[in-house]
Amino acid sequence: MKINALVAQDAAQPLAAGQITLRPLQQQDVKIEILYCGVCHSDLHMARNEWAVSRYPLVPGHEIVGRVLETGTQVTRFKAGDMVGVGVMVDSCRACHFCQQQEEQYCEAGFTATYNGIDKYTDDSTWGGYAQHVVVDQHFVVSIPQNLALAGVAPLLCAGVTVWSPLRHFGVKAGDSVGVVGLGGLGHMAVKLASALGAEVTLFTTSPEKGADARRLGATRVVVSRDAAQMAACQTSLDFIIDCVAAPHDLDPYLATLKTNGRLVLVGIPDQPHQSPNVTPLVFRRLSISGSSIGSIKETQEMLDFCGEHNITADIELIAGEEIETAFARMLKGEVKYRFVIDMLATRW
Ligand code: NAP
Ligand code: ZN
Ligand code: ZN
Repeated sequence: MKINALVAQDAAQPLAAGQITLRPLQQQDVKIEILYCGVCHSDLHMARNEWAVSRYPLVPGHEIVGRVLETGTQVTRFKAGDMVGVGVMVDSCRACHFCQQQEEQYCEAGFTATYNGIDKYTDDSTWGGYAQHVVVDQHFVVSIPQNLALAGVAPLLCAGVTVWSPLRHFGVKAGDSVGVVGLGGLGHMAVKLASALGAEVTLFTTSPEKGADARRLGATRVVVSRDAAQMAACQTSLDFIIDCVAAPHDLDPYLATLKTNGRLVLVGIPDQPHQSPNVTPLVFRRLSISGSSIGSIKETQEMLDFCGEHNITADIELIAGEEIETAFARMLKGEVKYRFVIDMLATRW
């Protein structure tokens, strides 16, 4: 089936309306009419080939919410009319150690990404959510709590679960002191989710004007990271930091804010490496630096249910598809408040 989508033809050209062909519905497949799709910084990295792995044509988008239109003959979990979500993965091997323990994001064969992956049925690219429809195996589809406004749910599917997974995996709990670096799409969800888990949240930002928003979102302390005195004032005060910055930067000033045994988790993926951190404080204060990749389907559903209970959605700016390049440009300047979401039904094709 041919559908309309926003297509990148190469790394230099702006995204523009075009057409793609979706695979025919398989027995386990759910066909979804996309209502909203969040704009993740990864979409920009990929559209511009900043990670040198993009294949063109490419349709970005992995923060998808929509309505089920049709289901394959073996689909048991969803029916036409259900409101559902799709995140960063649409398939995995299902057999390896990690798939067996429901951690598909670490599949030993590599998970199939929602876009720029290889569709095992067609050998063609997978196509993302900047489009009218998507066809996805039911295992990779999640249910959306009914009380949440749909447009603000879209960013939970990548930004939300990417910060939720390390918060849960590393056991962040009520009363812990948690730092969040960068108030963008991921960072603002980290502030909301960590504070809803009962942590005391410190936001590190390069944008002093975001301070009031950060407090509204749940931070109790805001630190301007370019101000050495403010950084020095919070030395050895944090248990855990989640770094959501999309650009290379010096990690040492953040490591200095960790207590002994503290952990810095990197979720931002800059196109150039961070400079190597100083080993001495790592050794003498037993600090850890970790990475973390999105989250599993199980964690995605848990996070959505938690957001339903706590009435949490992303703070969004709704755009039509035609505005995507302006949105990318503002994202590059760190100007997003705090996630762009494409209204697919308002998009002119
Ligand atoms: P975003 O909305 O653009 O936010 C990034 C934030 O980082 C900005 O708002 C800004 O916050 C801060 N920042 C930007 N440039 C900076 C610089 N030069 N120095 C210091 N701070 C800077 O991006 P996002 O969508 O949240 O994504 C963040 C990163 O996570 C991207 O690299 C993305 O690819 C990656 N990502 C990773 C995963 C994963 O599985 N690990 C999943 C999704 C996304 P302030 O203005 O507050 O400083
Ligand atoms: Zn993403
Ligand atoms: Zn696997």
